Amino acid sequence: MVCSQCKEKKTVFICSGCGVPLCSECVNYSVYGTGCGNINPLYLCPVCFDDPDVNQCNPG
Ligand SMILES: [Zn+2]
Ligand SMILES: [Zn+2]
Repeated sequence: MVCSQCKEKKTVFICSGCGVPLCSECVNYSVYGTGCGNINPLYLCPVCFDDPDVNQCNPG
């Protein structure tokens, strides 16, 4: 499976929001939970990275 963004490189991550494949260069890291007692790394595509419903502090 190739990256959904550049369509060239091999998939390394799956978007935590929408599940699209991402390579190591196209993935956006987000660490949410700061101030919530947890540190939970997310691997997000650019769309989800900008989506406040996905990229947020969500203790659930
Ligand atoms: Zn890529
Ligand atoms: Zn996504």
